[in-house]
Amino acid sequence: MTLTFDQAVQLDKNDPLAKYKDEFYIQEGHLYMDGNSLGLLSKRAETALNRSLNDWTEHGIDGWTDGAEPWFYLSEKLGEMTAPLLGAKKDEVISTGSITTNLHQMVATFFQPKGKKTKILTEELAFPTDMYVLQSQLSLQGLDPNEHLIVVKSKNGHTLDEDTIIENMTDEVALVVLPSVLYRSGQLLNMKRLTSEAHSRGITIGFDLAHSAGSIPHKLHEWGCDFAVWCTYKYLNSGPGGIGGLFVHEKHHGRAPGLAGWFGSNKERQFDMAHEMTPAETAGAYQLGTPHVFSSAPLIGSLEMFEEVGIDVVREKSLKLTNFLLECLREEQLLGEFEVITPLEESKRGGHIAVSHVEAARICKALKKRGVIPDYRAPNVIRFAPIAFYTSFEDVWKTVQALKTIMDQQEYKEFSNNRNVIA
Ligand SMILES: *Cc1c(COP(=O)(O)O)cnc(C)c1O
Repeated sequence: MTLTFDQAVQLDKNDPLAKYKDEFYIQEGHLYMDGNSLGLLSKRAETALNRSLNDWTEHGIDGWTDGAEPWFYLSEKLGEMTAPLLGAKKDEVISTGSITTNLHQMVATFFQPKGKKTKILTEELAFPTDMYVLQSQLSLQGLDPNEHLIVVKSKNGHTLDEDTIIENMTDEVALVVLPSVLYRSGQLLNMKRLTSEAHSRGITIGFDLAHSAGSIPHKLHEWGCDFAVWCTYKYLNSGPGGIGGLFVHEKHHGRAPGLAGWFGSNKERQFDMAHEMTPAETAGAYQLGTPHVFSSAPLIGSLEMFEEVGIDVVREKSLKLTNFLLECLREEQLLGEFEVITPLEESKRGGHIAVSHVEAARICKALKKRGVIPDYRAPNVIRFAPIAFYTSFEDVWKTVQALKTIMDQQEYKEFSNNRNVIA
């Protein structure tokens, strides 16, 4: 066996999170490297979901207030459990909606074009839905997105230059919306710096934490970020269509929601059924309608594990995993053939490693045939996300061995180089 295999065995032996692997359902013979698209089901998430189903069985309508996990307070409870992952106060976080609906809500609430300040600043590598939200919110204000959406360019097609973003924070910009971690390359932006630069120019700033929630620590409150949105079906393992979340800094509490709905009411007043809304004095004010209970419940079980371990320990293992992945790729001399598009500096990357290759689509198909579940992003990117809670160092080693065999034996040539509907 090779040097890296011995290292893997050693790293697993000293891994404080190793015991959590058994808490997850992992398909027999599979190496799951796609936890950044859909995290795996844990037994605790399953138990939490069953508890809510059972509350329905046993309590009917009274499940809202009298169940083992009362549905009426679930979004607030989950917000409180999520807050430590984000460096937020409990009232600054609420579990609700999806990234798309929450971003609509945040832009509707915070984008207030005035005088010269009529533009939104974002970047060209943004996830499509974020772009659509910004374009449609501008249109709703009667502003032409071609003129009022400033899209910062990437120099290499994979990463962004923070200085360039900051140069684009002109006196015409009212709002900046950026990702924390870029979904393709995995680049982690310096949220603290970008927030302080935006604020020094009188600009509001919010972040899409899709790829950092549950993978890296944040200090949203301390940094003073105005708002943030995220999903929980990626690193937070809440399941397909799992509930999203939003953060609104305490300094903005009391600001009227751009989109109002009755679940944004002060909870004591909601059932007065008044036609004049009394919004909550917390991030809860930005909820819309009845919470999606069965898409929220699994998150309780999942977050319990994050509470036990702490996000710093998760991040530490995640970096060890991705460093080890890079080392294995180097050791097997795959780095000439594959270009790593993720920044190598630890402080500049999130939880996955992305590589590019012209044959990426069919290399992924060959990996799947060998039981490795990667993640493909057209046209030529493969993302590997080893997950702190359920990926071992030996899994990483085996993944790279599979890749090596596929390349050496040209196994990918058995497949066509186009993508399937999803991925
Ligand atoms: C996954 C992801 C989304 C998905 O948005 P949904 O509303 O949850 O479907 C949005 N933005 C980014 C950056 C993502 O990675």
